[in-house]
Amino acid sequence: MATAVRPSASVPAADWSAAHERLVETLRDLIRIPSINPPPTPGADGETRVARYLEARLRAAGLAPEILESVPGRASVHARLRGDGTGGDPLLLLSHLDVVPAPAERWSHDPFAAEIVDGYLVGRGAVDMKDMVALELAVVELLAGEARAAGLDPARHPIPGLRRDVLFTCTSDEEAGGAAGVKAVEAQHPEWLRAAGALNECGGVSVTVLGRRLYPIQVAEKGYAPYRIHVSGTWGHGSMPRDDNAAVLAARIVERLAVPGPVRVTDVMARFLMAAAEALPGGAGDALRRIAAGDPQADRLIDALCDPMYARALRALIRDTISPDVIHTGVKYNVIPGDAVIEIDCRVLPGMTEPEMRAIVEERIGTDLLPACTIELMVWGAPVASPAEGPLWDVLVATLRDHDPDGVALPVMAPFGTDGKTTVPLGTPTYGFSPLRLDPDERFLERFHGVDERVSLDALKFGLPVLYDVVRRFCG
Ligand SMILES: [Zn+2]
Repeated sequence: MATAVRPSASVPAADWSAAHERLVETLRDLIRIPSINPPPTPGADGETRVARYLEARLRAAGLAPEILESVPGRASVHARLRGDGTGGDPLLLLSHLDVVPAPAERWSHDPFAAEIVDGYLVGRGAVDMKDMVALELAVVELLAGEARAAGLDPARHPIPGLRRDVLFTCTSDEEAGGAAGVKAVEAQHPEWLRAAGALNECGGVSVTVLGRRLYPIQVAEKGYAPYRIHVSGTWGHGSMPRDDNAAVLAARIVERLAVPGPVRVTDVMARFLMAAAEALPGGAGDALRRIAAGDPQADRLIDALCDPMYARALRALIRDTISPDVIHTGVKYNVIPGDAVIEIDCRVLPGMTEPEMRAIVEERIGTDLLPACTIELMVWGAPVASPAEGPLWDVLVATLRDHDPDGVALPVMAPFGTDGKTTVPLGTPTYGFSPLRLDPDERFLERFHGVDERVSLDALKFGLPVLYDVVRRFCG
């Protein structure tokens, strides 16, 4: 039984228009501060400069922001809006302020100029994820403004109508695992992250399939287990080939590892596939139901159904994956190498442990080649999942439906990791929900870390009242 959801809060249209203009300018400001991770030069302080920018904005809104600079140049920023304390635990508006590098020579526009081209704001971070930083800041500023308009001090008094606190937390270092960002915040200020629920990146963005607009909301993310495999052969003279040439052994190992694994449909993906089947016309619905049932022909069905960009994502979401991404071996053409190093990126579904993943890797390598290998785990990030039910979930679904009655919200998993890897184990259910209604042809998935990253201004215009209403409804 779905929880009753309060009606949309009313903000005058003129105020939305002004808030939208301000949101766009905020996003341009954020993009123009390159906060590249890893920092491109020693001592680069882009993340701290973004954090200081946000701190100034939050202070100007009347709040009392705090900065945590765990490593010089790599700050995170936080502010709290107070509710009256009768509504339960807070809602966390979570984001990260770092971006991945952008090779300018491959872009059609300067990645850090934040130009507006044909209705799109272009720049590194436009969708990952300074757009959400700007959306969340805009909501915080609207709420703080409502307190000031009522003659209150938003740094000390409850915001009118809020029963829960709203936390605004923006971390550094998400793109490199979060040691200098969310992990430092967890260690020193866990209260910046503990909440009844968090809204984060990678979901709530429309995808148009066969004419239907779907809004996958991220409720789970795969885990990661990258391994370094040391391969031992025998050194020798290239004039006399050896079977235990480490380069040859490594090539065989990589070939065995690169084979796609068996299909394993988790609960979240079964719900995603069944909800999509419900929403899409006949033939597509049948194919999706077969995939949900674990049909061994799933990859063929997916390829027939989806654009290659989505097919690649969907295939990765119904199995544990292994991608061999680094091979190092050899010193000279006439020297048989006795050593090789292979690095593989394993991504695991919820329910899989690290020892189980390692066992799969060993099995793939095979008993004949395994004695030549030493397998070293580089880092382990457990998969996480939050419930696709309950009051916050219901608010997300209902608010999207109210703002886009033709849209269909459904739970999904991300094939990669986010700061949710830290917040979920802290007890904060974390949802990828950065609401954007996109043009049907926009190739959004390719924009993440891609060339000419961009976000449509219309999509932002859609997103702001959605996010505002979610906060008002869940916290009101
Ligand atoms: Zn991101």
